Amino acid sequence: MNSPNTTSLLNEDIKYVWHPYSSLHSDNPIFAVKSANGVYLTLEDGRQLIDGMSSWWCAIHGYNVPTLNDAIKRQLDNMAHVMFGGLTHSPAVKLCKKLVELTPEKLDTVFLSDSGSVAVEVAMKMAVQYWQARQLPGKQKFISLQNGYHGDTIGAMSVCDPITGMHSLFEDILAKNYFIPSPTCHFEELCHSEHLKPLKTILKQHHHSIAAMIIEPVVQGAGGMKFYSADYIKQAKVLCEQYDVLLIADEIATGFGRTGKMFACEYANISPDIMCVGKSLTGGYMSLAATLFSKEISNTISKHPPHIFMHGPTFMGNPLACSVALESIRLLEASAWKQNIKKIEQLLIDGLKDCQSLDAVKDVRVLGAIGVVELKQPVNMAHIQQAFVDAGVWIRPFGKLIYLMPPFIIKKDELNRLCEAIHHVLSNNMQQ
Ligand SMILES: *Cc1c(COP(=O)(O)O)cnc(C)c1O
Repeated sequence: MNSPNTTSLLNEDIKYVWHPYSSLHSDNPIFAVKSANGVYLTLEDGRQLIDGMSSWWCAIHGYNVPTLNDAIKRQLDNMAHVMFGGLTHSPAVKLCKKLVELTPEKLDTVFLSDSGSVAVEVAMKMAVQYWQARQLPGKQKFISLQNGYHGDTIGAMSVCDPITGMHSLFEDILAKNYFIPSPTCHFEELCHSEHLKPLKTILKQHHHSIAAMIIEPVVQGAGGMKFYSADYIKQAKVLCEQYDVLLIADEIATGFGRTGKMFACEYANISPDIMCVGKSLTGGYMSLAATLFSKEISNTISKHPPHIFMHGPTFMGNPLACSVALESIRLLEASAWKQNIKKIEQLLIDGLKDCQSLDAVKDVRVLGAIGVVELKQPVNMAHIQQAFVDAGVWIRPFGKLIYLMPPFIIKKDELNRLCEAIHHVLSNNMQQ
């Protein structure tokens, strides 16, 4: 039972607050969190839930991590924020240097921003300005994959899947871009020329108007939780080069170990021209993202009119966010993250295997610390969300997809409880 305080909190929430992708008039339950520690969320009513989401894939080290807390507290005593125009500071410089070292070669410079969507906007603007500087101002369109997700701002939306991204709703303000089917060659398979044909066709016909191709390498996240062959990326990179089209790797979901490599591009052994990171960059502590690009791009933009890159967020390079990002990366590198992800992968494979035989289930797939149960029908959110909480876990499905992306520090029995909860809820609650 909720205390009177919690009840009043929830009532005021309903009255005043929008939540992501929500209606103010839905009967979906909402839960008030009091605190979070390790892999546990503690609700206001005292219940503890094992977190299977890492708070939308960010909290890779779990919650209330002493060294991350300390990094912010230390920085707070120096300065919380200063503008980044004309000023710089050690946390931002150190972080940018670290990101250049950590990411694939050729990504030599960094533009910091506040969120993944903005990092994607920056990547798109950068690509367009690059071709302008190269005297090819006609190259202003993008190629992306169906089932892709790149963020919710207007530019980013224009390269999200047209259907799940609801392009029809915003028809007149979204730029028209080119979409190709998401790759059908599976992870660890090679791709044949058939698989690359849709890309080749568009490049051949429209390369004069295309600035860049944008992809989520290997794992398509919020647009469908699909995995595909790294070989596709390798071949796409070659084709893009052939047609003077830049390749933007959106590693906002896949970056920092989630797929088993530090960055998913490493599976394909390629260096994209531009790369976006975000989400787990700060270990889930603060909103921060970065766009990395090659010297060729930064030099070309800087040498030609207007000589400047046209973007500058107010909170660019926020010192608190940069400090905690540095500490999060240090913590990740100091951990046995590769072995941890391998262990999580095996536990997910074993733990979700039994779901495959359930009537409601279409497919079960696992890659790195990502486990997906795809259903035949969309879930009833109100019903399933309550059922998961009753089972003591925090799992937030969307559409036909129930998935786990736990913090990397999760223990075997905790991960097993997450997997068992999915099986239990799907076996007992299938009234849609
Ligand atoms: C979440 C996500 C974004 C958007 O990031 P926000 O921080 O929510 O703006 C962009 N691309 C991918 C692949 C993502 O997963």
